[in-house]
Amino acid sequence: MAANMTFDALKQAVQEGTVDTVLACIIDMQGRLMGKRFHARHFIDSAYDETHCCNYLLATDLEMYTVEGYASTSWSRGYGDYVMKPDLSTIRRLGWLEGTAMVLCDVQDHHTHADVPHSPRALLKGQVARLKDMGFQAMMATELEFFLFEKSFDEIRKSGFRDLEPISAYNEDYHILATTKEEHVMRPVRNHLYAAGIPVENTKGEAEAGQEELNIRYAPAMLCADYHTIAKHAVKEIAWQKGHGVTFLPKWHKDRTGSSAHIHQSLWTLDGKPAFFDASDSLGMSALMKHYMAGLIKYAGDYTYFLAPYVNSYKRFQRGTFAPTRTVWSIDNRTAGFRLCGEGSKGVRVECRIGGSDLNPYLALAAQIAAGIRGIEEKLELAPPMTGDIYQAQKAKQIPRTLRDATETLRKSKMLREAFGDSVVEHYARAGEWEQEEFDRVVTDYELARGFERA
Ligand code: ADP
Repeated sequence: MAANMTFDALKQAVQEGTVDTVLACIIDMQGRLMGKRFHARHFIDSAYDETHCCNYLLATDLEMYTVEGYASTSWSRGYGDYVMKPDLSTIRRLGWLEGTAMVLCDVQDHHTHADVPHSPRALLKGQVARLKDMGFQAMMATELEFFLFEKSFDEIRKSGFRDLEPISAYNEDYHILATTKEEHVMRPVRNHLYAAGIPVENTKGEAEAGQEELNIRYAPAMLCADYHTIAKHAVKEIAWQKGHGVTFLPKWHKDRTGSSAHIHQSLWTLDGKPAFFDASDSLGMSALMKHYMAGLIKYAGDYTYFLAPYVNSYKRFQRGTFAPTRTVWSIDNRTAGFRLCGEGSKGVRVECRIGGSDLNPYLALAAQIAAGIRGIEEKLELAPPMTGDIYQAQKAKQIPRTLRDATETLRKSKMLREAFGDSVVEHYARAGEWEQEEFDRVVTDYELARGFERA
């Protein structure tokens, strides 16, 4: 399942009048869709070849602020243009928006038409190409967790984000009754995404009131990241259409479980054979898989920033909450950072459980593939699996526990500098540093309540 429309089919739909709008979208640093709404006629006549956007889109924050300190663009460099190059293999009709199709675009230099190195899609493309040169493709799946709320986005914002009642009243992990009450949102989410060429497996209630999980069938890494991005966007739009707010913030309340984005991964040969499987191993793990996993584990600190890119991301990492921080692996144990799944079968794979629901999937997958490749290159040996409650395993190494530490570890990462290039690592280290600087400027409600009278 790639997309659900060829360019010819789009042209036909435009002639017939069933599509009148085409969304041309790039993926920004935060993993959001940014772009323009084209009249479909103009798109099929000319914009299909290329269109343009301001280059600050890959140097801004969630607020669209013009952040200083990036080498790629700035006020002094005049904030010029990037080329948005539609990837015509990604055209999809979006059933939840009337008469509308969407195409994802690559981001290119305005003059040379080369991919912009820090563009999330370009970064993932680069790591996929490295794997291909080694004779492999990465099959990946991301699990999306989020919370649905009773009130709409607008009502929640107008209440100063205080009127935050989740859509259900109790922990709805695997609950059919509770999730039946949410079907007016979740059924269209599943069906519209499926019709748009995104192979939804299921949705389920998660381990908190109002918490949902959306699972999509594994796919080659680039498709997996495209699926994740479009699905996250669709969840927000469909919830909005139904009058509900939704959040992918990893920790929206201190007493509520956080939301994650687990990443399942396996390598396959280019002709489609599972290269992580070896029937002669007691767990069915090939030597290749062991090296890849050892790379994931050894370099987990290097790429933690890409799994947890905001100050809030680190609030999710708490004991007893299924949000692991120890860089060890285990067999079907949810307290380790890496969990072996499908052992002894062709579906043998590793699930990284560290990432939060706010990760940008292109960056997270690219960084994890880079770490796995390095593990293969270094022929790293995989330590034995851990057992029991790994939160208690004091000796096991941990990932950086704050955004500040993760940003510094990223900046110093030789592995990622070699895989992504120095300029890309500097670019994202600046993004992490900026998030911290912005947070540090703010006086929070917590500080006021705690210290106003008593300090
Ligand atoms: P559950 O444990 O909820 O039954 P599964 O373990 O079947 O779910 O699958 C979890 C995710 O792993 C799904 O998104 C699925 O598509 C994905 N997955 C299954 N096999 C592989 C594989 N070989 N490589 C990567 N991801 C896979």
